[in-house]
Amino acid sequence: MEKKIILVTGGTGLIGKAIENIVNEDKKDNEEWIFVGSKEADLCDKKSTEQLFEKYKPTHVIHLAAMVGGLFHNMAHNLDFLRNNLHINDNVLQTAHENNVIKVVSCLSTCIFPDKTTYPIDETMIHNGPPHPSNYGYSYAKRLLDVANHAYLEQNNRLYTSIIPCNVFGPHDNFNPHSSHVIPGLMRKLYDLIKDGNTEDKIFTVLGSGKPLRQFIYSLDLAKLILWVLREYNSVEPIILSVDEKDEVSISKVAETLAKAFDFKGKIVYDTTAADGQYKKTASNSKLRNYLPAMQFTPFENAIKETVNWYRSNYNIARN
Ligand code: NDP
Repeated sequence: MEKKIILVTGGTGLIGKAIENIVNEDKKDNEEWIFVGSKEADLCDKKSTEQLFEKYKPTHVIHLAAMVGGLFHNMAHNLDFLRNNLHINDNVLQTAHENNVIKVVSCLSTCIFPDKTTYPIDETMIHNGPPHPSNYGYSYAKRLLDVANHAYLEQNNRLYTSIIPCNVFGPHDNFNPHSSHVIPGLMRKLYDLIKDGNTEDKIFTVLGSGKPLRQFIYSLDLAKLILWVLREYNSVEPIILSVDEKDEVSISKVAETLAKAFDFKGKIVYDTTAADGQYKKTASNSKLRNYLPAMQFTPFENAIKETVNWYRSNYNIARN
């Protein structure tokens, strides 16, 4: 069997760690996996990217590295999100091409779709209108990955493709209150709130109305799907990797599920003076379901419980 050397950029992050976990359970003799973070190479820099590819000589790349953040971090840093991600993506794809990498799987996101759209969104709608103003820097940089993939195919006959995950959560997430996504952000808040005593007078404040709806995928479920894409999915066209539409949950449901997982005894309050972001961004996973009709996702409550347990046991090493 053909030997594959698979380089995972962003290998130290939430999704990279989940892939490492799944690969360790499902090892294939012909696959060698390399997980790298920013300490090993600064992918904003072309020379540093070239040295990384020279060192490991990958045949395949799962490209996860990106400047990533939640709503409030994006709103304040659209220029940085645009420039850093443009540089990272151009350096990785071009260096992969120069080194004859056979396949690259890059990562888009359901939050880069047009703000004004019909629902559910699907893979054909990425470029149909401007993204939500809160994260246009990140969104345009990500959209150009899809443009580049098509251009690499057309001009150089490369199979460089992309996946579109919905919101991801799980062990090894970023729990820093200034840059985290909603689930790890709320987990950190709850943890801090009850570490000195879990009493009924504690108030758990959730920013926004609690009404927006989101689809959340557990990082370990997503990791399994990414392995399938790497091994079996051979089209340049992006594919949405999301839970089913019926599994969409409100932010208030997220807050309640977290409070239950922490056994929080106080009160949940919604600060409606804070921004809500997009009301919903429901994505259709019917393309994925056509390939994998039997795929079972971990129930939301169970995945939250596992993540909370991980965070409690690993608070000292978590990205706080
Ligand atoms: P994390 O923030 O957990 O990890 C980001 C990774 O990128 C880290 O390994 C980090 O390295 C690396 N990185 C960042 N900047 C650089 C750089 N300049 N050079 C080299 N490496 C760099 O991200 P996630 O795992 O959450 O996200 C992975 C991918 O999935 C991203 O492309 C993101 O856009 C996409 N995505 C994420 C979603 C989510 O909800 N989390 C939803 C949809 C898509 P280090 O930590 O060592 O600095």
